[in-house]
Amino acid sequence: MIRVENLHRHFGGFRAVDGASLEIQTGSITGLIGPNGAGKSTLFNVIAGVLKPTSGRVMMDGEEITGLAPHELFHKGLLRTFQIAHEFSSMTVRENLMMVPARQSGETLWNAWTARRRIAQEEAELLKKADEVLDFLTISHLRDELAGNLSGGQKKLLELGRTMMVDAKIVFLDEVGAGVNRTLLNTIGDAIVRLNKERGYTFCVIEHDMDFIARLCDPVIVMAEGKVLAQGSADHIMENEAVIEAYLGT
Ligand code: ADP
Ligand code: MG
Repeated sequence: MIRVENLHRHFGGFRAVDGASLEIQTGSITGLIGPNGAGKSTLFNVIAGVLKPTSGRVMMDGEEITGLAPHELFHKGLLRTFQIAHEFSSMTVRENLMMVPARQSGETLWNAWTARRRIAQEEAELLKKADEVLDFLTISHLRDELAGNLSGGQKKLLELGRTMMVDAKIVFLDEVGAGVNRTLLNTIGDAIVRLNKERGYTFCVIEHDMDFIARLCDPVIVMAEGKVLAQGSADHIMENEAVIEAYLGT
């Protein structure tokens, strides 16, 4: 689904991403691991249109998507989750989901007179969809809770939920497990697996918790110093000398 070709992203003279090439297969849950500072988040941000690459290409289903803006990628079904923005923390969990634009209704003066009715219909559909998402993620009981009151893990689930409000094809998750307790991490893992199996989502997941990676991801791609160091099953990766060295070296 995604092919990254010889990608570079430099900051001044510093090569955060230094000629990374990799592929993410349709239907996979691909793990991306590597020591701190390896360039994982920068790579994600370039793929997701948040940062422009210095050079190199990103392809999606054979079409070049290098440098497209996040909203253009969003319409192609490529999503990167973001932390719940501060201004949304005083809205409820359900309202947060409904803020995600499910569809553009093509607002024009021509059809403005039907707008009221259409908006009401769309809102009812959004509401239904939001409730389905909450049910899927087993957080229906948090529906009317303010997003700002959620625990770290619950926020992660809500972020994942936001990707379900649109027809996502591929979702990039950066450190899903950071600051999340084991029980919620398992819930998040289960949600990812179900989205993959039942909805056909492809995932690329950055995570430091190797148990989580090993349980969910195949293949696992290892980055170090801006480059892809190794790729393979989790077991295979953990026995790789270069990978062990990269981790011990930091
Ligand atoms: P990772 O996610 O693998 O820990 P990052 O992609 O966040 O690594 O960072 C890779 C390197 O690039 C780090 O050394 C970081 O300090 C540097 N870096 C990231 N973003 C910037 C930036 N905006 N300006 C300068 N250096 C940056
Ligand atoms: Mg990072």
